[in-house]
Amino acid sequence: MNLSRPKMAGLLFLNLIFSPSTQIFMNCYNHQTVPAVAICKNCNKGLCPQCLTEVENGIACTSTCVEEVKTINALISRNKNLTKRATGNYNRAVFIYFAMALLFFYSGFTYAGLRYYMFPAGAIFLFISIWTLIAALKVKKA
Ligand SMILES: [Zn+2]
Ligand SMILES: [Zn+2]
Repeated sequence: MNLSRPKMAGLLFLNLIFSPSTQIFMNCYNHQTVPAVAICKNCNKGLCPQCLTEVENGIACTSTCVEEVKTINALISRNKNLTKRATGNYNRAVFIYFAMALLFFYSGFTYAGLRYYMFPAGAIFLFISIWTLIAALKVKKA
C-alpha cells in the first residue's frame, strides 16, 4: 500500500491523538521494529504504512480482514437504512392517526348527535398519534 507522505503524517497524528497510551508505542505486527500508524479495524493488530489497507471507514491488514471490515461496514449501513425506514413508517403512522383524530373532532363539531361518539374517538386517536410520535423519537435517538 503506497501512501503519500502527508497522508502518512496525518495517520500518525490521528493515531497519537485518538489512541489510548498503550497503542501509541505499538509496533507493526509484521515488522516488529517499525512503529504502527494504524490499528486493523477487524483484528486490532498494529500496522505500519506498508502493511495497512484503507477501507471505507477504517484500516485493515490482510485481504481477509479487508473483507471482514467491508462486511461490518455493509451491516452497519444496512442497519442505518432500516432505522431510517422505521422512522419513516412511524412518521406516516403519526400523520395518519393525527388526521383520524382531526376527522373525528370535525365530525363531532359538525354532527351534534354524534358528538358523544366522535369526541372520545378523536381523543383516542390523538393519544395514539402522540404515543407513536414519542416512539418514533426514541427510534431516532437509538
Ligand atoms: Zn486484521
Ligand atoms: Zn508492517
